[in-house]
Formats: sequence, structure tokens, C-alpha cells
Amino acid sequence: MTKTKRNAIIEYMEQKKGRVVKIRQFLYTSASFFYLRITANQRLKPRKRLRFETDVTDHCNLNCKSCHHFSSIADQNFVETEVFEKDFARISQLAGRNNENIDIMGGEPLLHPEISTLLIIARKYFDGPVNIVTNGILLEKMNAFFWESCRKNNIRIIVSSYPIKLNVKRIKELAKKYSVTLKIRSIFMSKNSWCKLPFDLNGKQCIKENSKLCITINKCIFLKNGRLSTCCLPLVADRFNNYFCKNTETVTVSSRTGNFAHSGLVVSTALEATDDDSIDIYKAKNIGEIYEFLSKPVPFCRYCKIKSWEIGIEWGVSKKEITEWI
Ligand code: SF4
Ligand code: SF4
Repeated sequence: MTKTKRNAIIEYMEQKKGRVVKIRQFLYTSASFFYLRITANQRLKPRKRLRFETDVTDHCNLNCKSCHHFSSIADQNFVETEVFEKDFARISQLAGRNNENIDIMGGEPLLHPEISTLLIIARKYFDGPVNIVTNGILLEKMNAFFWESCRKNNIRIIVSSYPIKLNVKRIKELAKKYSVTLKIRSIFMSKNSWCKLPFDLNGKQCIKENSKLCITINKCIFLKNGRLSTCCLPLVADRFNNYFCKNTETVTVSSRTGNFAHSGLVVSTALEATDDDSIDIYKAKNIGEIYEFLSKPVPFCRYCKIKSWEIGIEWGVSKKEITEWI
């Protein structure tokens, strides 16, 4: 076979693969949006029980492209144990120790030098399910104190799904040895199961429509520095702003991706979050006030291009380029 013929076949196969991916994405997003729209009223009701997640590290050791927490472009940062305990004590007091779920995550939570102590603190204040959500890379290296902290405090380890090699056999052995509940989300995640939520840096998206179609609102409730928000974005946007504003004042965005109408458009890089995007847990009078706040969209929702969620895209390590997020 000639080189030209071989290249033509490869190109044809690539095009075919691209079409299949697009059809799969279309079917998946159509079904998801249909479901989200008909369940919107239910999802946007004030909660009855508390659930939240919190990042104990900003940074990560995997650095995926388009990371939803902006961890792949975040500076190294660890939550202070005192701040973590103060916030947990306050929310516990408001919620009467009652929680539906708490996820301790990041970034990569196992990078935190005092992760075992943080787990002890979490259990000190809450009676319900507490999980540590990790990419699993460091699990094999964790010491006995960590595993014992998980066991004694009934902390479940959840390994998120990424197309990376993990020594699953060894991780399972360790969990068994220390009698720790382990959940591995999917050890066979394909490279084409990644997703990206693009942002409209001009903040022109419809907040009401976004809230109806958003899967995270009032569910992936996020705690940071004494504040709770309905999703992580308003409280982690500083990672995006710090990285891109530090490196470029403005960026020129090509219309090749179809995200913008005109090529060469100059946009501001800031995803601006204000106090209206989250609630101060020390000023809230009771848990009902917090649930009421969390059940409503926030001004920050204007940045999310929810209808343009890209699902089923190829996973990869971040090149720290702004196009991974817009
Ligand atoms: S593993 Fe990837 S998606 Fe998860 S926090 Fe790290 S960089 Fe983000
Ligand atoms: S900012 Fe609003 S629309 Fe965007 S993900 Fe969070 S809750 Fe959803």
C-alpha cells in the first residue's frame, strides 16, 4: 500500500471516529438535559439534610486538562488544620451533627501532610458518611496512621476514575488489611470519557436556564474558608484568575473552537466571584437559611456555558492553556 493511500485511510478512520464521538456526545447530552430539565424543581428545593465537599489542597499530582476545580493551574496550598476544624465545628453546630454526605477532596487530598488529622476532625463533628475522594496515586504509599485513621473514624476511601495505571490489587489488599471501606469508581475508564465545562468570560449566559440544566447546583455544595456555595466554582475561581491574570492581562481567543463569534476577540480573563455567590456560615442564623441560599442560582452562574458541556472528550494532562476552560 502506498503512503498516500495509507494516509487517506487513516484520515477517513479519524473522521469516522470523530463523527461517532460527536453522535455519542449529542445523545448523552440530550438525554441528560431532558432529565435535568424535568427534575429541576425537585433539585432546586431547599435541602433537608446537609451535604458538602471541601478541598484540603488546591493543587494536584495528576493535573488533568480542564479540571473543574482548576487544580491543574493552582498554586500549592494546604488548608490549615485550625481553619478546617473551626469551619467543621460551626457547620456541625448548625446542622446538629447530621449530614447526608461529606467529601474531603482537592486537588489531591492525600498530598496534605496532615490528612490523617483532618479525617479525625471530620469525624469528631459529624455522625454521617464521610469520604476521602482521591485519584489513588498515593494510596500505596500512605502510612499505617492514615489507614488506621480511616478505619477508626469510619472514613470511606473513594478512588475517582481516570485512565491511569493504579496498582489496584495492592490498594485493595491495604484496604482489606486495615478494614477500610474502599470504592473504586471505575478502573477501566476509557480515555474518551472526559468532560469539559466551558466558561463564557463575558458572563452573558442565562442564570435561570443554567440553574435548570446544572447537575451540580445544590448537590456539589462546597465549603471554603467559612463560606458555603452551591457548587465549587465561585470559591475556586481565584485559582483560574491567579493563573491566567498573572500570566496574561488579556487573551485573544480564536473562533476556531466555535466558542466565540468573531476571531481575534479580546476578552477579560477574570471569573469574578463576590460575597453574593456564597454564604458566610458564621453569619447565618440557622441551617434553614443556608439551605435556602444553596437552593438558588448565584450571579456566578452567568459564566457557565452549561448547554455546551463537552462530554466524552479525550482525557489528557493539562497544558495549562486557557482554551481548556473556555
Ligand atoms: S485528579 Fe484531575 S480532575 Fe481531579 S483534582 Fe486532580 S487535576 Fe483535577
Ligand atoms: S456556577 Fe451555577 S451554573 Fe455554574 S456549575 Fe455552579 S451552580 Fe452550575
